[in-house]
Amino acid sequence: MPKQLSAKPCRDGHRLKKFIKGGDGLTVVKTGNGIFMKTGTSELETRDKKVLIADWNALMRVFIRPEDEACRVTLIKYMEQILFGLHEFLGKHVGITENVSLKKLASQFKSTAICDNPEKKLSEVIRELIKEISPYGVNVASPYFVGHMTSAIPFFMVHLKTIAAALNQNLVKLETSKIFSILEKQVLAKIHRLIYQFHESFYCEHVQNVNTTLGSFVEGGTTANLTALWVARNRLFAPTDDFGGVEAEGINAAYRKYGVRRAVILVSRRGHYSLRKAGGILGIGNRNILPIDVDYAHRMDVRHLEETIKSIKKDGDTAIIAVVGVAGTTETGAIDPLKKIGELCARENIFFHVDAAWGGPTLLSDTHRNLLEGIELADSVTIDGHKQFYMPMTCGMVYFKDPYAMDVVRYHANYVNRHGSVDLGIKSLPGSREANSMILDSALKIMGKKGYALLIEHGIETARKLADEIEKRELFDLVTRPQLNILTYRVCPPHLKDILKNGTDVERTETVKRLNHINKTIQRIQREAGRSFVSRTTLMRRQYENGIVVLRCVIMNPMTNMRILNEILDEQEEIFRQAFPDEIP
Ligand SMILES: *Cc1c(COP(=O)(O)O)cnc(C)c1O
Repeated sequence: MPKQLSAKPCRDGHRLKKFIKGGDGLTVVKTGNGIFMKTGTSELETRDKKVLIADWNALMRVFIRPEDEACRVTLIKYMEQILFGLHEFLGKHVGITENVSLKKLASQFKSTAICDNPEKKLSEVIRELIKEISPYGVNVASPYFVGHMTSAIPFFMVHLKTIAAALNQNLVKLETSKIFSILEKQVLAKIHRLIYQFHESFYCEHVQNVNTTLGSFVEGGTTANLTALWVARNRLFAPTDDFGGVEAEGINAAYRKYGVRRAVILVSRRGHYSLRKAGGILGIGNRNILPIDVDYAHRMDVRHLEETIKSIKKDGDTAIIAVVGVAGTTETGAIDPLKKIGELCARENIFFHVDAAWGGPTLLSDTHRNLLEGIELADSVTIDGHKQFYMPMTCGMVYFKDPYAMDVVRYHANYVNRHGSVDLGIKSLPGSREANSMILDSALKIMGKKGYALLIEHGIETARKLADEIEKRELFDLVTRPQLNILTYRVCPPHLKDILKNGTDVERTETVKRLNHINKTIQRIQREAGRSFVSRTTLMRRQYENGIVVLRCVIMNPMTNMRILNEILDEQEEIFRQAFPDEIP
């Protein structure tokens, strides 16, 4: 018998002492959480033999609603456990410790059979998740966790997510969402307006227009980018009198019809790898996602873009589906010169997509919105809700300047998404999906533009202070100055800095190799110590074949401050001194 079942008799049992007959004649005790326990004559005599069974009555109890006082008390008790039990974990635990290795954890999760009868009661499952599983998760809410784009979320998000789950609306169609579809159109228009700032009359016309679409909620930035490029591809290889369009006839037929050998998408070398996935899925091949060089600050080099477009057009056998500008690259937070790229695309008549998965919400800050100047020139824009809108996983969005743009990805089915209905699933990559739009809309109401602006400003300003601090410390080398709230740097003692500056090519290459090793090691040791977490990435540089390894800080948690960041830098210095005593000046 599994260990957890030999534990104390069900604590809820005595509250609902209601005995009924089980199907096989054994007495079954009805417990508060809806699962039944088979017992003999008395609970005490048989406490070691209790077995949970699944039967129709048990099932009915699983679909319990808080219909009477006892159920209500039980359900509230679980919610308390979830909200505060987890909170305790989040308070104590920091980072990704190696107290228990991944290998050891994996060895405990190898059985692959699904149990016939229930293994555990809900209360046990919750207890186990809180006490035994969560401590080995990662505390992304810690202010010392500054390595990734996933961070603390305001507590009210948990409430909103619970409402979304409790109502279980499905936004694929009106018949399973009704007002939530209407609410979604409204919030789409709000964010569209934030990006494009069209006239009031435009939004009056489109906010609830059943024939137009200002954007779409999807799973994440990856599917948002895919949706945008799907639209761009279908626009380029549109139907003609004797051609059904690429969506209907496929990519080969489209190339034949349009007289090209291939189609390409142009994006900065720092573009997100989801764009390459889109290349694969859209049938153009991910090798045809062509990287454009970046300048010293990792922004797309517009001159190189212009030359690339010219030479492609001269060849004549290649179609350009889109140019993608990035507003906040994943690695360094760089923002491409959107205005220049947008103007170039307009002149060349090329679809312009902006991947603002990360940087989009910067538009909420009047102080920093100018960083994204030119985003309004984009034909489409990706924004992630689960990043700087501080929403729970996962919420991607894509917006289109042209309210009819998504007509080229329209699908109908007889039982759902009928012609002329407001069904949001008609023009949408996902099918069924939850009411994420309700969460975003509520969050906007709770936070206001100003509330979000404070978060954005805290991130950008703290990142700038951290950059100054790194420059002050002689053991560090700031690699990318933050344009938003992401910066990269590395540990680099003065004598190695000197070689990088004055050494021969061979010496410099050797030093970069050495520094890469040092920084990889420091990042790993710090991560395994579990007090704090900074990520690492490798920035490709033409002169260094294997790139340069950098430490990467993403500052979005409002609890992260300079005191904490200084502690993190101190810890890195300390690790460096201990692990590389020979390199100490
Ligand atoms: C995070 C990110 C993505 C991918 O988004 P997911 O939500 O992880 O799918 C794409 N582009 C950029 C710039 C990102 O920061």
